[in-house]
Amino acid sequence: MMNAAPLPRTTDPDSFRALCEALEQAESSDQLERAEVLRAMVDAAAFCQCPECDDKPDRRAECATCNGDGFVPESD
Ligand SMILES: [Zn+2]
Repeated sequence: MMNAAPLPRTTDPDSFRALCEALEQAESSDQLERAEVLRAMVDAAAFCQCPECDDKPDRRAECATCNGDGFVPESD
């Protein structure tokens, strides 16, 4: 159940990375409601997937655009 409060906008890269890991874990363990909430938080965060490596594990490691993070600060 989602409440109507606005989601916090994650602006800290470490927090965002933790959020992504939690989402991945929730999805891989079939915690669908938890994954849905986490996905909404990832979407609301001030970061987006790296356009250079698409967060692909094999390309991410050597990516200079995101420095191996797989995500970049969202530009507006
Ligand atoms: Zn990248």
